[in-house]
Amino acid sequence: MPSLFFDLDDTLLDATGMMIDCVDAVATRFSARLSDTQLARLADVYLRANLDAWRSSTPADPRFTLESIWQLCWKRVVTELAIEIPLAELLPTYREARAAEHARLFPEAPSVLATLAARGYRLGLITNGPRELQRRKLADTGLCDHLDPILISQEVGYAKPDPRIFQEAARRAGSEPASCAMIGDMLFADISGGRASGWHAIWVRRAWPAGPGHEDPAQQDEDHRPHRVVNDLTGLLEIF
Ligand SMILES: [Mg+2]
Repeated sequence: MPSLFFDLDDTLLDATGMMIDCVDAVATRFSARLSDTQLARLADVYLRANLDAWRSSTPADPRFTLESIWQLCWKRVVTELAIEIPLAELLPTYREARAAEHARLFPEAPSVLATLAARGYRLGLITNGPRELQRRKLADTGLCDHLDPILISQEVGYAKPDPRIFQEAARRAGSEPASCAMIGDMLFADISGGRASGWHAIWVRRAWPAGPGHEDPAQQDEDHRPHRVVNDLTGLLEIF
């Protein structure tokens, strides 16, 4: 049976939208102590820092935490924008905003998954991230009932783009690599990892800023170029 494996954050879940709302909460709370330029650039700098932080971290490591990513991001925001508010004030506000947020599915995700399942595809998930956090998002959104197998880097011990997590996913699904597809938003993790494993690779290109993991695929060498590009999940219905 052909298997379609989805990435979670920014592919099925609007992780960036949620992140921007949380950065905005920090901006609102400290607006009196930030300049107009700092306020205007805050979200953009944070998002770029976040992309770099994920790329340079090891989300298969049992010690990996989201808190370490947040610290890296806020340190870079403070440095790059010359913000004089201490991290000890910014971080708790951000942490509080994140705790109040819930995982949000992209609006088209449920119907696209249902249609692909009805067309006979096995639907799975490969995500880089901390075990508990990713499990909670899958439970909160009900995605865990529709995706099997589910591979979380911190559970498996390997993270995308390591080919071993793709091999393990194909093994669990009982599919040959040639009948597997990886669908994700990050060229670095999802597309190059999928391609290196002999899978089909589809890039979900949303309106994210350019940056590590989201570079223009035309500029990538052949190994990192997606086979197909879609602007949102509904584009998959024309491919599968
Ligand atoms: Mg992603």
